[in-house]
Formats: sequence, C-alpha cells, structure tokens
Amino acid sequence: MIEPFAKPFYITQPLLPDMDEFNEMLKSIWASKQLSNNGTMVKQLERDLSGYLNADYLSVFSNGTVALQLACKVLRLSGEVITTPFTFAATTHSLLWNNLKPVFCDIEEDTYNINPDLIESLITQDTTAIMPVHVFGNPCNVAKIKQIADKYGLKIIYDAAHAFGVKVDGKPISSFGDISMFSFHATKIYHTIEGGALTFKDPYFKERADSLRNFGIKNTDTVLEPGTNGKLNEIQASVGILLLKQVESEIENRKEITNYYRQFLKDIPGIITVNDIEGVSHNYSYFVIRVDKTEYGYSRDELFDKLLEYNVIARKYFYPLCSNFQCYRDYPSSLKDKLPVANKISDMVLSLPLHGRMQKEDVEKISSIIKAIHEG
Ligand SMILES: *Cc1c(COP(=O)(O)O)cnc(C)c1O
Repeated sequence: MIEPFAKPFYITQPLLPDMDEFNEMLKSIWASKQLSNNGTMVKQLERDLSGYLNADYLSVFSNGTVALQLACKVLRLSGEVITTPFTFAATTHSLLWNNLKPVFCDIEEDTYNINPDLIESLITQDTTAIMPVHVFGNPCNVAKIKQIADKYGLKIIYDAAHAFGVKVDGKPISSFGDISMFSFHATKIYHTIEGGALTFKDPYFKERADSLRNFGIKNTDTVLEPGTNGKLNEIQASVGILLLKQVESEIENRKEITNYYRQFLKDIPGIITVNDIEGVSHNYSYFVIRVDKTEYGYSRDELFDKLLEYNVIARKYFYPLCSNFQCYRDYPSSLKDKLPVANKISDMVLSLPLHGRMQKEDVEKISSIIKAIHEG
C-alpha cells in the first residue's frame, strides 16, 4: 500500500508575491493615502495587463462575476443568451442577474466547449448573444462561433476565466468576441486574490464598464445609470502587478507537471487524458482526466473518494452541470436528453492537483495511487 500524503494535497496553490517587493508596494500605497477609486496601482495594473494580454481596451474589477454581469449590461443584452451548462455557476448566474434567460447548448466531446454545430438550432427571435466558455483554457471554436454571430447579428461574450494568456495561432484569446472576461480569483493561474477583468474591442464599451463599476457616476454632479460597486482596490492591484512577473514561469512549470502526468497516467486503463491542441499556446491551468468506469473498474465518484483516503484533494470540475442546478433544471433547454454529451462528460471528469511548485515525485505518487486503486 502506498502511504497517504502527510498533509492534504490540494487541487492548487496560489502564486504569492515576493514579500519584500510587496512591502515596497505597500509603502508607496501608504504614502499615497489612496486605497481605492481608480488609483495609481489600478491604472498601472490595467496598463500592464493590456500589454500582457494584448488587449485593445481593458478594465479590472473586484471579481470576475461582477465583470461578467457588467459585460451583459455594457452590451445592453435582453431576452435569451445561448451558453454552456459545462461551466462554473457564475457564468449562468450572471445572465439571471441581468434578467436574461440562459439557453443551454450541448458541448463537444473532445474540448468540453460549447458545440458550435448545435448553436443555430437554439436561436429564436429573442436571442441576443452567445456566452461561450473557454473551458479549462482550451479555446472554443472561435471562427465558427463568430460566423454564426455575424449571420444572426448576435453579440459574443467569452467567459475566459480559465484562459489567461492563451493564444490561438499567435492571436491573443482576448481578440475574439465583443468582450472577454478573465477571473483573477486566488485559485486561478494568475490572480489578485479576488478580481477580474474585461477586455473590449470598442473604447466606448470600456468607458461604460468603468462608469458601471463605479455606481454609474460620471462626475460630481452627474449619475448616468444604476451601476454597482465593482472596483478593485490598490492593495490587490499591487499583488496583481507583482504576480504578472511570475506568470510565464508558472505556465512553464505547469506545462512540465502536465507532461509528467500524461506520461505516468498513459497506460492506466480507463484513465483518459487530453493532449495539447495544435496551434494553441496553452496556459496549463488545469489537469483534467476522464474516468471510464468499465475499463478503470471504479467510477469518477469512487476514484474521488478513494483519493481522499490518500489525502489527495481532487475536484469534480464541472459537476453538477449548471443545467441540473435546482434553479435551472426546469428550463426547456436543461432536459438531459438535449444535453447528452455534457451530462456524460460531467459524470466522468476529475481535476487533479496542479500548480507550479509541484515536484515530479508528487505527480509520480499521485499517478501511482491512481494505478494502485485500479489494480485493487
Ligand atoms: C472562476 C470562474 C468565474 C468567476 O470568477 P470569480 O472571479 O471567482 O468571480 C466565472 N467563470 C468561470 C468558468 C470560472 O472558473
């Protein structure tokens, strides 16, 4: 029997800024006496991120969910929005918070992203937009989605929460769709503890988003519309400025860990891993396997429970599907036989621990545990 890990081996571990550098940042914030409201740090972070993500226009927010909610407002969406059930709750919830009706579209078997071949059949006269997700950082079929959006005059908001720094044929992921949302939550590959960003093609969209994140206030005498409080503060922005210097090496390290996983898991029956996609620069933010019970001998849920006995904390991303949440399951598009692939994949996927400080031995041990469980 393999010894369990002495301490819980969590799904991920956040990047942390260098303490001395962070202290220097804090000193300058203390000296400025400005802690929030579009200060020096937030402005610098927006410049740095626009550069890194190659975005035309970019704004930062207190979190990715608020950013997504405001993206819908900026585009003045109404009626129905076609989206994927295979995502984090925030994607669908952001639509409801805007009184929009999510229409769930099934996913592709290989990328777990929205299946563009099924989008057209879901379009009605109430459809105003498509909200796809680049699931686990794997880019959607952006060309096909654009073609459909152009044909029907629909807007596209990409939930790019997982896709920080990803490129498709050299093009930055932020260059697709009208708006893209990035999440900077501490569990994401790049973060500001809590935080998020929107990237825009149109400078007018940034202007409105900046107003909406600050209550819709235009100036001391004018409030334009009912905005919200979506501001990022100076201390979190300084964390973001410092961590941006670490992202490249984090991606490199995770790539190495990912390749070890692929190598060590390759010959275990019923454990399916996903390869890199040609032409894509991945960010390796998640390592996700599929468990085929008939070949592996145990279901995903059984493997998840057994891994806990070894102190390995995996995650069932994304289970349950949004379409199966109590608040959405009565929608006509939520019917299980309309979403066969999503329902099947959601019962098979398991995210394994991944971060840049992991060692080859950790990957080897987790893989051996998965093998030992199979061999009973
Ligand atoms: C993390 C995440 C969000 C929400 O981001 P927060 O910054 O945590 O609000 C939205 N969509 C997806 C797919 C996510 O993984």
